[in-house]
Amino acid sequence: MEKVYLDNAATTPINSEVLNEMMPYLTTNYGNPNSLHEFGRNAKAAIEKARNQVAKSLGCKPSEVYFTSGATEGNNWFITQFAYANSKKGKHIITSKIEHPSVIETCKRLESEGFNVTYLDVDANGLVKIEDLLHVITGGTILITIMAANNEVGTVQNIQTIANIAKEHNIAFHTDATQAVGAININMKLMGIDALTFSAHKINGPKGVGALCVREGIKFGKMMLGGEQESGMRAGTSNVAGIVGLGKAIELICRDIAVNSKKLREIRDYFIRNVKDKIDVVKLNGHPKQRLPNNANFSFGMLNGESLVCLLDTYGIATSTGAACSSGSTEPSYVLQAMGVNPELVQGAVRFSFGLGVTKQEVDYVILKLIECVSKLRKISPKTKKQVGRV
Ligand code: PMP
Repeated sequence: MEKVYLDNAATTPINSEVLNEMMPYLTTNYGNPNSLHEFGRNAKAAIEKARNQVAKSLGCKPSEVYFTSGATEGNNWFITQFAYANSKKGKHIITSKIEHPSVIETCKRLESEGFNVTYLDVDANGLVKIEDLLHVITGGTILITIMAANNEVGTVQNIQTIANIAKEHNIAFHTDATQAVGAININMKLMGIDALTFSAHKINGPKGVGALCVREGIKFGKMMLGGEQESGMRAGTSNVAGIVGLGKAIELICRDIAVNSKKLREIRDYFIRNVKDKIDVVKLNGHPKQRLPNNANFSFGMLNGESLVCLLDTYGIATSTGAACSSGSTEPSYVLQAMGVNPELVQGAVRFSFGLGVTKQEVDYVILKLIECVSKLRKISPKTKKQVGRV
């Protein structure tokens, strides 16, 4: 059976160059980077090399890069510890309704602790409305945290405009760039981004490692206590091999961004055209143009997205109903709901996220099987076209 992996928004395969770079730190170079001897010094040098690779790729200083266990930690850490450290200035935070749960739940906890959070609506394409943002800013607003690109529908936000607004109002701007790094060009300094989080496993790096980049001068507290690692901000022996992998992964993905985006866009658009032509009662969710090059999120009327994901899996095709973090729950997607997608279509959503290895032949196979699976599920569906309504 053919196997086609179209769930790259959940996680990506590790690049062999990245793995090669990591291997010595899992085998012979096992020193603790805090040790004074040569083993330790080698490990420390490898971490600092990775810090430079991140800084160069994202337009910040090496001293502004803090390694984490991933984007969930980065989001929890920055939002919480920024809020605590700046609460004397104000207690208002602005975010959106379509953020990753690691942002939303962190904001909810801050609310329970006396902070005031505004969750901005988005338009039908998943974009934060700039006029709404301007409207909710108050003298007490300390932080705007808006994701650079959405993990379910792939919509890329107007980050530059939001960063400018934050700057004009003297508000810090944080962006969860987990899906955007390596897909769109990001330069923290030029764009005026104060803080940014991302994760290695979304960019062909290893799992369990990420980074939080915070502009010098932004006040925020420590993640962990008990050691001097990461400038004393995150105690604990560093994940040396993971960090080395992250450094190589970001260097490679940012170096090849233009070529890779073009390739991904071509194969993704070929898929979108075919789905629209060959399947009826189908809606492409997310922005028609301003979207990640590898994302196609479709709602199929008269079926359930989870059933379609499971049926496609029997043909070796890996897809997802939405975010990996919320699959397993039967709750309808809060992202699609916030975008005002017809409820009949919310439950029929499936995300196809492409990777560089995917060939046209594989896509043709997916289209063939998709037509077959959609038709099978619709045959046993109690829903009619009329019940679905407008797509
Ligand atoms: N933010 C976004 C937008 C994501 O897509 C993800 C991963 N699903 C995360 C945060 C969490 O990343 P990690 O798996 O590294 O904790």
